[in-house]
Amino acid sequence: MSTKLGLYPILDRVIVVGAGPVGCVTALAMVRAGIPVIQFDAAATTPTEHRAATTHSSTLDLLDGIGMGARVVADGLKAQYFQYRYRETNKVFAEFDFGRLADETNHPYAVQLEQHKTVAIALDMLTAYPHHELHRPLKVVEVEQGADAVKVVTEAEDGSRKDWQARYVIGCDGGRSFVRKSQGIDFPGFTWEERFMIVATLFDFEKADNYRYRNYIADPNLWCSVFKIPGPDGRGMWRNLFPIMGNEPEEVVTSDDWIRARYDECFPYARDTPIIHRNLYSVHQRVAASFRKGRVMLAGDSAHINNPLGGMGMNSGIGDGLNLVDKLAKVWRGEADDTIFDLYDRQRRPLAQKYVQAQSIQNKETLQAADPAAANKRFEELGKTAEDPKRHKAFLMNASLINMMREAAAIG
Ligand SMILES: Cc1cc2nc3c(=O)[nH]c(=O)nc-3n(C[C@H](O)[C@H](O)[C@H](O)COP(=O)(O)OP(=O)(O)OC[C@H]3O[C@@H](n4cnc5c(N)ncnc54)[C@H](O)[C@@H]3O)c2cc1C
Repeated sequence: MSTKLGLYPILDRVIVVGAGPVGCVTALAMVRAGIPVIQFDAAATTPTEHRAATTHSSTLDLLDGIGMGARVVADGLKAQYFQYRYRETNKVFAEFDFGRLADETNHPYAVQLEQHKTVAIALDMLTAYPHHELHRPLKVVEVEQGADAVKVVTEAEDGSRKDWQARYVIGCDGGRSFVRKSQGIDFPGFTWEERFMIVATLFDFEKADNYRYRNYIADPNLWCSVFKIPGPDGRGMWRNLFPIMGNEPEEVVTSDDWIRARYDECFPYARDTPIIHRNLYSVHQRVAASFRKGRVMLAGDSAHINNPLGGMGMNSGIGDGLNLVDKLAKVWRGEADDTIFDLYDRQRRPLAQKYVQAQSIQNKETLQAADPAAANKRFEELGKTAEDPKRHKAFLMNASLINMMREAAAIG
């Protein structure tokens, strides 16, 4: 029997662990569907470090469905084109145009918007729903399933603990997910040998060298990328991504000297630009063995992580969350029972492998192939794909994750 807490029986709600982009968008979709939500995050505020920036067409279409799409588009930069260049010659060997997807999506472009701004939009919209509560900083330290409910224990910064209950728990608590570990769900995959360095500057790559807002620079030894984001004042900031092949210590690879040496190799005209921000990452490719165990579901990075090339982690995570909410809403309305959550696993997990893992690995291999002959063959192929209208569109249908979304919907 459920006990009343405020307006709702405490079992008649869902706990979302994590207030990153996936947790917040998922929570917003749930409250709009009339499902009460309690959300926890271990951090006091949303981190503003440089992570996701690209929101794809398929995600923008999904965000329209929860009233968020227009705000993301308004705050972001429309990126209709993306480019591949050779580092050695600076020649563009392939350019793709999302405009070719005009018949397939309401958003034939990607939007460049920092993920903490997407989170801020969702959190702002959530304030309109009295059946949503966000508690932070509170760290989830126990998740225990019972027959009718899940018990979650949170720990505050002063070490005090509190018990909570809900009908279901969604782990949106990132790649190191406590929720996933608490349920003994494996996270097989691998970690890339190289680390990635993100550098942010105000140097205008468009003005200097006609870069698009999303660009990949291929090279067997030192590939890199150039991306534009709105930046703190919305007037534009540029991000470069460089791989770190060896084991140099963090203080070396985050130093001005190391970064300036990479600019010398890739963008000599920008070598003296002030460095606004730098972040060092380890990069993994992993998919959870299951996205569901009983009353506990995983979405976003807690369920799958990948390298950032192609911008698919947050996008596919939002796709998970909104797919799951469709099913939760059916359960809430009494139109389906719990077995529908197995369908969530079937629709999202194999496709995370087929699209997100396969494409992000392929994107990285395209840029870096160590064997120059193999590399040239891949670059040529990509150039041919861009030139052929049919292949061009097919490439974008995968890159924008529209195909992933449609294929998931067809799985019964
Ligand atoms: C350099 C870089 C660039 C990227 N670019 C893109 C891109 O362009 N497009 C794209 O789609 N993806 C991109 N990604 C991936 C994207 O950042 C992630 O996929 C995304 O952050 C996943 O969101 P999430 O909400 O699942 O997890 P997170 O953003 O990691 O949020 C998890 C939240 O859970 C909280 N939490 C963790 N443990 C607990 C606990 N025990 N209790 C309570 N709260 C907890 C954390 O504090 C955090 O707020 C990029 C990643 C990197 C590193």
